[in-house]
Amino acid sequence: MSHYISIIMYHYVRDLKNSRYPEIKGLDIALFKEQIAYIKKHYNVISAYDLMDAIGSNADLPPMSLLLTFDDAYVDHFTQVSPVLDEQGLPGLFFPPAKSILEHQVLDVNKIHFILASVPDKTVLVNYIYQSLDKNRSSYDLEPKEFYWKKCGVPSRYDTAEVMFVKYMLQVELPEKLRHIITDELFKKFVSSDEKSFSKELYMSIDQISCLQRNGMYIGSHGFEHYWLNSISISEDDQRKEIDLSLKFLKAIGSDLSRWIMCYPYGAYNESLLTILKERNCSIGLTTKVGIADLEKDNPLTLPRLDTNDLPKNSNESPNEWTIKAISG
Ligand SMILES: [Zn+2]
Repeated sequence: MSHYISIIMYHYVRDLKNSRYPEIKGLDIALFKEQIAYIKKHYNVISAYDLMDAIGSNADLPPMSLLLTFDDAYVDHFTQVSPVLDEQGLPGLFFPPAKSILEHQVLDVNKIHFILASVPDKTVLVNYIYQSLDKNRSSYDLEPKEFYWKKCGVPSRYDTAEVMFVKYMLQVELPEKLRHIITDELFKKFVSSDEKSFSKELYMSIDQISCLQRNGMYIGSHGFEHYWLNSISISEDDQRKEIDLSLKFLKAIGSDLSRWIMCYPYGAYNESLLTILKERNCSIGLTTKVGIADLEKDNPLTLPRLDTNDLPKNSNESPNEWTIKAISG
């Protein structure tokens, strides 16, 4: 028996080559199937209830326990992922951003992904943002463009300087209201003028989410508006409202709220949020901190996860560092 669990995080899982946005940063369905075969070979996939039971009773888990988690309720999770899980007899956990599902809006973070996937020459986007800065200088307190380029145009392990600039400017750097306005303009210009239809094609419907739940999948909270819940612009009251609205959504689809699982948007939380979660009987919180969770040491409300990219996507590959770590854990 063991007190370690590897919790794997997935976002887009799709037939990338045959999709309208092959450039979207997602996991190809063929590689997902390979990864699932690798996981079945080396791990024991457990359910949300197995983990909640173990945490509730301080019991141990089977050796090499692993949990499959899917963020943001993309329709891919219904059309591509759930048939694979069903065929393999594996449970999964799904975390819908409730407001997007209910009101058919597209999250800004998703809009940015599709803007980037729709414009091959990213300097077009950089220049558009520069022009927007000049246009909005009278209404917002903005820095010169050289300042922003120096701060945000820094290439990462996965992305070019231009891509990082667009992401960082629109996700973090600019004032929140302006970020939203520019993202919206770019989405309308380069992706779709019909956000509602796009949203319906991107996310699962309530019926699809309920269907997963009836088929034994676990549906948990991913907030209501998908905010950074540790942001200084979010008060404790706002946090409570976010959680309560997401729970109202879960209740409407028939979830048992005597114990439940929170998956923090962007992995972001703080002390006041943890207090609210305890008041509401939340038993597990999932972050984006990278690691294997240790039930003896970790706070159950702030468990680390691994990304799909941390495990091999080839069923025949020998155990990689994270698998070896779990074996020797
Ligand atoms: Zn999310």
